[in-house]
Amino acid sequence: MRCRFCNNDLNYVFADLKEAPLSNSYLDKASLLKQEEKLPLKIFVCQKCWLVQVDEMKKTEEIFDNSYAYFSSMSQSWLQHSQEYVSMIIDYLNLNQDSLVTEIASNDGYLLQYMQQAGIPCFGIEPTSSTANVAKQKGIKVVEDFFGTRLANQLLESGKASDLILGNNVLAHVPNIKDFVQGLKLLLKPQGTITLEFPHLLNLIKYNQFDTIYHEHFSYLSILAVTQIFNACGLDIYNVEKLSTHGGSVRIYVCHKKIFAQNPNVADIIEEEKNFGLNTLQTYLKFQNKIEKVKKDFCDFLNLHKDKKIIAYGAAAKGNTLLNYCEVKADIIDFVVDKAPSKINKYLPGSHIPIVEEEQILKLKPDYIIILPWNIFDEITEQLTYAKQWGAKFVCAIPEIKIEG
Ligand SMILES: [Zn+2]
Repeated sequence: MRCRFCNNDLNYVFADLKEAPLSNSYLDKASLLKQEEKLPLKIFVCQKCWLVQVDEMKKTEEIFDNSYAYFSSMSQSWLQHSQEYVSMIIDYLNLNQDSLVTEIASNDGYLLQYMQQAGIPCFGIEPTSSTANVAKQKGIKVVEDFFGTRLANQLLESGKASDLILGNNVLAHVPNIKDFVQGLKLLLKPQGTITLEFPHLLNLIKYNQFDTIYHEHFSYLSILAVTQIFNACGLDIYNVEKLSTHGGSVRIYVCHKKIFAQNPNVADIIEEEKNFGLNTLQTYLKFQNKIEKVKKDFCDFLNLHKDKKIIAYGAAAKGNTLLNYCEVKADIIDFVVDKAPSKINKYLPGSHIPIVEEEQILKLKPDYIIILPWNIFDEITEQLTYAKQWGAKFVCAIPEIKIEG
């Protein structure tokens, strides 16, 4: 097995989460009876380029199929983040009605709706038709496909070279990262900019965010590794910003080689990564111990309170990794509440915990509510303040066990 960027042999395990079902494959009642497909979830680090990556390829067509149930517009804070980005980037790049903006993985149009409102010509690329259809209902143009050099060439032929190409939480999701970046290079106008947001590997390690490891993520990215990939494809990272989204992300600004001067932020963040040890193998090899500690503390909490009524909030991919790795089932957690209508009355993959509407919280009056998407813990606990009336407490397992209320 070889590194998908530099082709070096992959010998070192970063995280081994054993066997796991696909995180976003929610089950209906009938499929509970069938044998569920589980796949190894083992992550390696390349000791030459530091790209952290999965060993085995699950076909992307299977992961991002028509039943894909992740709708970006479900999170209010994510919508606000996107709206702020749109006004910032229009100013920063002087975008106007003659510009063209392309968003890769445009999902349900959560971001392009603001671009459209600002009168900037734009279109999205999105392989999952469940989300693309929602975007189209908003009047947004969507090409339903996977992005790479093949599609970039097609788009070029139809005059779609872009002033801005953006992609939020997509770079880590592509199996062939080199082909993806080469595609970006092809589609970008000579003076154009690419911005990409992705969770920062530095935070994943620092804050024990092992639940962000699932089959949809093919790589886990540092600026150290990403810089090498973009440079090899004839692109420069000219700026980096840190973001608080998804537990600590980064946004990179990319241009063709030597077009814009590099902001000192780039050297600073690389320095920070080196100081943390992202250029030494030992840092990566110690991560599995941190995972085991989170697992033990979470299981101890559940065991201690097993006579209480415990539920969870947020049927997201993250939660599935945590629950499955900790072997938590529906006998411990009664149900998980979610806002997305597409998930209601289904079951979490692996743990088979039923997904219900929020009103069930009022009926059951649980003692503990485990907030699975810890990155929006405050947003959710605020929304569930009413549960404090009967003394419910809010629990979070990552970065370490926390009980509030
Ligand atoms: Zn490598």
